[in-house]
Amino acid sequence: MPTIPHNEANSQTMREVAEEITGTCKSLDDVLQEKFKDEGLTATDFDITLLGELDDMVMECQECNWWCETHDLDDDQICGDCRNDN
Ligand SMILES: [Zn+2]
Repeated sequence: MPTIPHNEANSQTMREVAEEITGTCKSLDDVLQEKFKDEGLTATDFDITLLGELDDMVMECQECNWWCETHDLDDDQICGDCRNDN
C-alpha cells in the first residue's frame, strides 16, 4: 500500500508541487518531501493515480531536465525551448 493515498487533500498538495516545480530543475523527490513534510519519501510512496495527476500537469524535459507544463512538451517529452534549439 502506498504511504500517500489518492484523496482531495493530497490532490491539492500535488497541485502545489506542480506549481512549485514548474520552470525549475529541482529534484521531484526534494519537492515532494518538502510539501508532504515526510523525510525520505520517494515517488514510489505515492498512489499511482495521484502521480498521474502530477504527470498531467508537469513533466521533466528529457533534453534539459527542466520541469515544464505537460502540454508544452512534445511526444518525446522535449520542451519548446529545446525544440527551437534544434
Ligand atoms: Zn528542454
